[in-house]
Order: sequence, then C-alpha cells, then structure tokens
Amino acid sequence: MSTAVVETEEHKALRAAVAALGKRYGRDYMATVVREGAHPDALWAEAAKLGYLGVNLPEGYGGGGGGIAELSIVLEELGAAGCPLLMMVVSPAICGTVIARFGTDEQKAAWLPGLADGSLTMAFGITEPDAGSNSHRITTTARRDGDNWLLTGRKVFISGVDIADATLIVGRTEDARTGRLKPCLFIVPRDTPGFRRSQIDMELQAPEKQFELVLDDVRLPAEALVGDEDAGLLQLFVGLNPERVMTAAFAVGMGRYAVSRAVEYAKDRTVWKTPVGAHQAIAHPLAQAHIELELARLMMQKAAHLYDAGDDLGAGEAANMAKYAAAEACVKAVDQAVHTLGGNGLTREYGLASLITAARVARIAPVSREMILNFVSHQSLGLPKSY
Ligand SMILES: Cc1cc2nc3c(=O)[nH]c(=O)nc-3n(C[C@H](O)[C@H](O)[C@H](O)COP(=O)(O)OP(=O)(O)OC[C@H]3O[C@@H](n4cnc5c(N)ncnc54)[C@H](O)[C@@H]3O)c2cc1C
Repeated sequence: MSTAVVETEEHKALRAAVAALGKRYGRDYMATVVREGAHPDALWAEAAKLGYLGVNLPEGYGGGGGGIAELSIVLEELGAAGCPLLMMVVSPAICGTVIARFGTDEQKAAWLPGLADGSLTMAFGITEPDAGSNSHRITTTARRDGDNWLLTGRKVFISGVDIADATLIVGRTEDARTGRLKPCLFIVPRDTPGFRRSQIDMELQAPEKQFELVLDDVRLPAEALVGDEDAGLLQLFVGLNPERVMTAAFAVGMGRYAVSRAVEYAKDRTVWKTPVGAHQAIAHPLAQAHIELELARLMMQKAAHLYDAGDDLGAGEAANMAKYAAAEACVKAVDQAVHTLGGNGLTREYGLASLITAARVARIAPVSREMILNFVSHQSLGLPKSY
C-alpha cells in the first residue's frame, strides 16, 4: 500500500521540533508583538536559523532541499502554538518557489540564500483594486525603455510590503507578436523610486500589515523580470499552488490552536456538577471541529505531495480543495472555541475573539471560497460558467 499521504518519521520529527519552538514563543509573544506594533523578528530569525523557513528551498542555495510538505508542517505547527508567521506563505513558499524554479542564475544567487536563512523577505502582489478575484483583469503593465522596464499600476491588500526587501509584482507585458498582454513577474525592491505604499486600516490583530501600492513608471533593470518573458503564466500557476497549500496550513494551525484552548477550558470550567466539556452540546461541536481540521489537513498533505512530486496540474485541484476545506474548518473551529468560553471567549485576556476576524482571512484570500467552488464546478465537474 502506498503511504504517500501518511507522514514519514522525518515529518513527524520536524512537526515535533517546530511545535517545541512554537511553544517557547506562543500566543503571548504574538500578542505582545502586535500590541507594540512590532514584528515577530525573534521567532522569524530563530525559525530561519533552525532551517525551518528555507526547508523547501534547494540545498545548493542554503535551503533544506525539501518541499511544500515540509514547509506547510512548519507553518501549521507554529500556528497551532498560536504564533503563525504569515510571511512564510509569500516569502519562501511563493517567491522562493518561483525563483528556484524559474529564476535566472543571478536571481537565484541574489535571493535564495537570503530567503532560506531569513535575512531576506519577499512579498507578493497580484490583487488589484479593479480586478479583485478576476485576475485576468489586472492592468499593471510593464513597457520596455531601452534596457529597462517601466512598471505602472496599482495593487491592493498586499501583505508585508513594509518589512519585505522586495515585492514580487504580477504585471503584464505586450506580446511582440500578437500585441496581447501576457502575465510577467517582476522583483521590485522596497525603496525603488515610484514604488509607493500606504497601509490599509484592517480590523486584524496581526503583525503583518496590508498595503495599497501605487507603481508610477517604476524603472527596473532588465534582470528584474523573473525568468522568461514568455513563461509568466506557468510561473504564476506554479507559485499559486504552494500559496494555497500554505494558506491551508495557516488555517489548520489556527483552528487547532483555537480547539486546544477551548478543550483546555472546557475540561476545567464547572458551573453544574461536571465540567462544561462533559455536556455534549459543547463536546460534540469541538469533536466535529477536530475531525474537520484533520480532514482538511489530509487534503493539504495530498496537495503538497502532488506538488512536490512535480504534478502541477493534479496539485492545482487538491490545493484548491485543501484551502477551501481548511478555511471552512478553521472558521467553524474558531467560532465554536469562542462559544465554549462563554463570556471569556470575548475577553482580551483569553485572546480568542480576535481570531474570529483572523480566521476569515483564509476564507477570502488568496482566492475566495466562491472562486474555489467555481473552479471545482468548472474544472472538476465540467459545469458551465456563469461569467
Ligand atoms: C488579510 C489579507 C491579506 C492579503 N494579502 C495579499 C497579498 O499578500 N497579496 C495579494 O496579491 N493579495 C492579498 N490579499 C488579497 C486577496 O487575495 C483578495 O482579497 C481576494 O483575492 C479577493 O479579492 P477582492 O477582495 O477584490 O474581492 P472581490 O473579488 O471583490 O470579491 C467580493 C466577493 O464576491 C465574490 N465573488 C467574486 N467573483 C465571484 C464569482 N465569479 N462568483 C461568485 N462569487 C464571486 C467573492 O468570493 C467575494 O466574496 C489579501 C487579502 C486579505 C484580506
């Protein structure tokens, strides 16, 4: 029997080691970082030093030589300990993957060692105000000017642009033959003239902030274009599968954290003869949440396995399904966890209420629940499109 979706001993050991690191930081560390308007630099640096942030990147560039399976374990376990690192979704997972697979030798040398050892971070910007879920509609455009590119457009909700050394921007260039616009990826360093950002006021208690970006004739050297001008769509596709798997890991981790806090509380809190956790009205929804998180994780493992095995197409369907299942399981788990604590579920002290907002992120980003249902309706079931 194939044990492909069952974790290896190495995976289990990685899980245990990351869980131990997460336990040393935990929710209190994250809450303090957020309160102080700081960033989880200490955790980021330690996770990087232990090889966890670059576990998926090639060994030749300082990475661990593993895949998205390993990277998703790292994010899930940090999340389960209450201290997820959102930038892992974009920096090593999307940007690291795209550069490792498609970057030029110079781009690999410039970025991969730093992404692997955590000294460099890269954000990822695709969403545009007038395109939203319809990424076919993005209008950020690059035109040639001598040996340079001039990039102009707008992006919205881009995470971590302030702390990232550069942002991988999805733009378009004109196909010289057909005149049609095709997607292309550009590395835009944070302080490039004409690259402006303004922070969006989000109702999220997280250290990573979201930004609206304006790119106004941003002049970039020829080597800012990632890989081949004609392979942009493929590169994008390949980067988005790890993003979905990592978002699933983020959601499963958060859901596990919420359930574990609720279980701890429900074993102790007694207002009748038994702890509240003995009432099935409290116990069963927590058991359901636990089951649904486990199921979502199983699909996440399948998606990671397919991706790491080089099956980009197969991974696409599984990664979408995993992201969907994990987000829904997370939203439900957080809701039930908050309810389990009664009034304490809404206090700052117990710190669960803020997860109600945070859990919704995985439902809307990087691709919304509805767009995944559309994908499955059209691609998996062959149903016609409404749009
Ligand atoms: C916290 C956070 C962090 C983010 N970080 C990043 C980032 O780092 N980089 C980045 O590029 N983007 C990022 N995003 C953006 C995110 O990917 C988008 O918000 C998401 O893709 C949805 O786009 P939209 O917000 O424009 O919603 P819209 O596209 O306007 O959709 C609005 C609603 O309509 C629904 N809808 C739209 N079209 C259809 C349809 N055809 N059928 C059925 N329903 C439909 C959607 O599901 C949604 O519920 C982030 C968002 C958040 C909230």
